[in-house]
Amino acid sequence: MNRVYNFSAGPSMLPFPVLEKAQKELVSYNESGMSVMELSHRSGLFTNIITEAEALLRELMQIPDNYKVLFTQGGASQQFAMVPLNLLNKSGKADFIHTGSWSKKALSEAKKYGETRVIASSEDENFTYIPDVDVTMIDKEADYVHITTNNTIEGTAFATIPDTGDVPLVADMSSNILSEQIDVSKFGIIYAGAQKNIGPAGVTVVIIREDLIGQAKDSCPTMLNYQTFTDSGSLYNTPPTFAIYMAKLVFEWLKKLGGIKKMEKINREKAAILYDYIDQSELFASPVKKGSRSIMNIPFIIPGRELDAQFVKEAQEAGLETLKGHRSVGGMRASIYNAMPVEGVQALIQFMKDFETRNK
Ligand code: PMP
Repeated sequence: MNRVYNFSAGPSMLPFPVLEKAQKELVSYNESGMSVMELSHRSGLFTNIITEAEALLRELMQIPDNYKVLFTQGGASQQFAMVPLNLLNKSGKADFIHTGSWSKKALSEAKKYGETRVIASSEDENFTYIPDVDVTMIDKEADYVHITTNNTIEGTAFATIPDTGDVPLVADMSSNILSEQIDVSKFGIIYAGAQKNIGPAGVTVVIIREDLIGQAKDSCPTMLNYQTFTDSGSLYNTPPTFAIYMAKLVFEWLKKLGGIKKMEKINREKAAILYDYIDQSELFASPVKKGSRSIMNIPFIIPGRELDAQFVKEAQEAGLETLKGHRSVGGMRASIYNAMPVEGVQALIQFMKDFETRNK
């Protein structure tokens, strides 16, 4: 079996038992004589899949009853527009916490629909840290505050979630949903593209507090209105059926593993061994300030040497895939989402040690 350790930021590794189960069920799901890809989205079998997927996600994240779970399309990028189209209607103002390339995109999309303001930013130091959020800065009239809880490209993450009081907090959790325990009740909306910790690309999960539904602008397209998804149980049109099925398998895997609490423990251990090695290394360094570091996306650099390309090439030859950093920041980046086993991180550290010895 030619599996590699894939450190891609997304689409990224899926748990191996999930792939095996999908393979086993591929040509005839549940003795139907059809693959999930061939099932009608209105069939009983698919209804069971989407219902079960939602129930498992609710259980894993302990989602309170006054929140809806929606399966949308268009990725997290579409949420950059859906959020303002649905929420930016009372004062027409939104406050943003600006921590990197993705928050920038969310901000520039929201600007098209209302008045936006940045209340905290780490742009002054190239987004290498998480800024303090002075919650007294929040406009009490704002329709929402937007946060990117984990910055996939920069490798930073919020250690604590700011308390925005009565102003709904909208979170892009694309790259750290299901990786650590969070209190859903602190948020108005949580959204995440699937292709990191949920499943394959194509489905987007939206967790939304009920009172935030039904406020969309009149001009809001039907497919961009959260109400359309709640009214139809995410079945207004044909949903990405296979991606939802895969997400269900991932949720089952996570539950069997011990849930998010257990997953978080494993994730923290994986990240700690990698950071510990980087911090004591004489070749590699972390560009991210301690206290702001992501446990999902770990960038590292080789200061003063032109060894990046060689590192990435030799790592690939050793079965360690996609370690090149994002084109906007350079260096290397190891994305170690839920499905990356600890053995993969250990193999990376061993490779880095050997590389360091060879390039003293
Ligand atoms: N937000 C974050 C934090 C991301 O990491 C990504 C994708 N890497 C996006 C948004 C965009 O997601 P999508 O490609 O699903 O639109």
